[in-house]
Amino acid sequence: MTTAGGKIRCRRCVGFSQRTQKQCNHPALKTSSKSSKQARCKWHGGASTGPLSEKGIEAIKKANTKHGNFTKDAVEKTSQQDAMFRYLVDIGNYINMFTHKLKTRGRASKYYHPLDLSDPEQLVKAVLATLGKDR
Ligand SMILES: [Zn+2]
Repeated sequence: MTTAGGKIRCRRCVGFSQRTQKQCNHPALKTSSKSSKQARCKWHGGASTGPLSEKGIEAIKKANTKHGNFTKDAVEKTSQQDAMFRYLVDIGNYINMFTHKLKTRGRASKYYHPLDLSDPEQLVKAVLATLGKDR
């Protein structure tokens, strides 16, 4: 059959209407895996089901990853680094290391919990957190 006003030759969908029991008149989608006897339109199962094999899933992941800055591992690492930096700034402020009190911007990561640094136990906890050794 033809479509686009006779400009494109294509296969006809082999699906049948549930209501009228007649063969579908839509053009079949072009798929490499299906033979002409399985050619189906988008309503009768012609669309891709997506990758099924591990290899296929990995290929799609790789194709859709642009720089990897927002992968789960990268976001987790950034979150931990943010907490370390915030503890470092807290310690610096506590010991008056800076000329004025520094502020950190933005939302704190889930690993950061403000500590009372006048308590020696919590001060040690903050120091260990800047070394990334509290976990
Ligand atoms: Zn169809």
